Amino acid sequence: MTLHIDLQAIVANWTALAAKAPGARAAAVVKADAYGLGAAKVAPALYQAGARDFFVALASEGRALRPLLPGDARINVLSGHMDGADLTGLVPVLNSPEQFFRDRAMRPGKPFAIQLDTGMNRLGMEAAEWSAIRAEVLAAKPDFIMSHLACADEPDHPANAMQLAAFRAMTDGCTVPRSLAATGGILLGPDYHFDLVRPGIGLYGALPFADAQPVVRLSLPVIQARTVQPGEFVGYSATWTADAPRRIATVAAGYADGILRSISSKGASLYAAGRACPIVGRVSMDLITVDVTELDDVPRDLDLICPEQPVDRLADFAGTIGYEILTSLGLRYDRTWQ
Ligand SMILES: *Cc1c(COP(=O)(O)O)cnc(C)c1O
Repeated sequence: MTLHIDLQAIVANWTALAAKAPGARAAAVVKADAYGLGAAKVAPALYQAGARDFFVALASEGRALRPLLPGDARINVLSGHMDGADLTGLVPVLNSPEQFFRDRAMRPGKPFAIQLDTGMNRLGMEAAEWSAIRAEVLAAKPDFIMSHLACADEPDHPANAMQLAAFRAMTDGCTVPRSLAATGGILLGPDYHFDLVRPGIGLYGALPFADAQPVVRLSLPVIQARTVQPGEFVGYSATWTADAPRRIATVAAGYADGILRSISSKGASLYAAGRACPIVGRVSMDLITVDVTELDDVPRDLDLICPEQPVDRLADFAGTIGYEILTSLGLRYDRTWQ
């Protein structure tokens, strides 16, 4: 089971997204272990390419990353200053007045950033909270002020312009760098770019960055193959029955490895040198069964994620998004970075 991760493609995607926002600094979002692809490899590669701003979700992720990046890399923690968190060497993005006062009491003079809520109602200070402490926050000199778009993957969604107007109303006149756009926001155009952009998913080759270079190839070894006769079934609950003699290969990976069970019977395939071999029957915990009848030989490995079936196609079969496919990829794979 090998998860091939193309670091050069990640760097190329970062460079391409940065070039779409030439007036802004491009950060790199490496939360959830760089969307499952290995923050310890991805973040240093992006640092080498010029990234100096990194985002993680949790202080624990930041602490793991800190020794792997030079001191001039800023590691921003999106959950901010939670009670008891160790933020040594990290920059909390403070999400509420409570977090701001806690942080200033415990880390006076240390760097911090601010998140404002502009309509998503998930993280960040609301307009009234912000206006009450804005002067005090600005006097403490935040690294930047940010907010997050709820619908940036839908360019025509009215929430985008609404959130942009709210962000402007809350931050115009502040002489502090501003940040609003993740991958989707970068693609919405220059109005959304401000001073710092925060691409995540686009670095890893998935939508909404449709022009991304593919980053992941997932190859799964065949354990055995057999011929099933017409009327014989394959897999749990006997959901698939052969209508003719079929050659079935059993492959070593399953839903315990993040191959969502919901792709069963939806038309997903494994690929042998570009040729589709349909998945038949249910995905089980450690195994997948595949119809390889059309191949001349049973190959050693079959690919689940490859140019013929990219992350987003697999996500469609599972009724989910590329983000969930990537962050579900399990710990049993040999990850190789080239
Ligand atoms: C995850 C996240 C990002 C990155 O978003 P993508 O859609 O993956 O580019 C940026 N900002 C915040 C606040 C996030 O939570």
